[in-house]
Amino acid sequence: MSHAVPNLESVVWEIADEIAQRKDRGEVASYIPELACVDVNSFGIVVIDADGHVAAAGDSETPFSIQSISKVFTLTLALGKVGDRLWRVVGREPSGSPFNSIVQLERERGIPRNPFINAGAIVVTDQILSGHQPREALGEILRFMQFLTNDPSIAIDEHVAASEQRTGFRNLALTNYMKSFGVIENPVDFTLGVYFHHCAIAMSCRQLAAAGRFLAHLGRNPATGHSVVQPERARRINSVMLMCGHYDGSGEFAYRVGLPGKSGVGGGILAIAPGKASIAVWSPGLDANGNSHLGRVALEALTKRMGWSIFGA
Ligand code: GLN
Repeated sequence: MSHAVPNLESVVWEIADEIAQRKDRGEVASYIPELACVDVNSFGIVVIDADGHVAAAGDSETPFSIQSISKVFTLTLALGKVGDRLWRVVGREPSGSPFNSIVQLERERGIPRNPFINAGAIVVTDQILSGHQPREALGEILRFMQFLTNDPSIAIDEHVAASEQRTGFRNLALTNYMKSFGVIENPVDFTLGVYFHHCAIAMSCRQLAAAGRFLAHLGRNPATGHSVVQPERARRINSVMLMCGHYDGSGEFAYRVGLPGKSGVGGGILAIAPGKASIAVWSPGLDANGNSHLGRVALEALTKRMGWSIFGA
């Protein structure tokens, strides 16, 4: 008996319908006050396959705060700038701790476990900033997002950036603490200013899925033909996403979804099906680890129905 290849478009529509019925929507992030204003019932999904075919459903064109998903792109930029020297100031091991944890830093002398927990992402931002003014570094990050998506309209939500700047005491503590070990090169307020602003980039699922395509296709964006990174680097970024992209929920995400992925507290997840697709989902309600609850549920259904887990069916 032969199995029909599932139709991507109908799978995506089915999933959006199923998600719309769910009552267990999680909690929107409230520690960044501006994010608490987002409607918990929003849901978007976009899948761009290897041929550039786009399957979309729900609020797929609504921009949301990408938050920690920006850390995939700052990692890519920092590796381009300083190469493997980056690994002197940040590790690449799963942390098993919450995204904003401070405890490990003391034992590990100010070197964060990986580039996706807040401390690690702040170090990565600091590396991009060195030798530049904050405005230039931020411009570089934003232009990178516009280049990847071929969309100059992508912008920073200044309200979200200001909201986090006013309330980001824990990130301030983390950065001061790392500065005391000599891990942070620039003034703390400069590094954090750039960090808060790149977390506040607003993008839709469609834009985010477009931005992730180079990771699904050996470092090359099939839409533009641009080689963004070497295949080896794309592979390595994917592996850091798989191991660390969901903080202390990374094991659960790998178990259920089986793809490299990166979440943000805005409720977005970027997931990469190597060779097959770049996927963005958005559902603002979070689970206890600060990852999108229904975003993960939607991705689990997608990989199961399409047979896309990197671990096989
Ligand atoms: N800007 C957020 C913070 O630093 C990002 C956290 C996240 O998305 N997990 O707390």
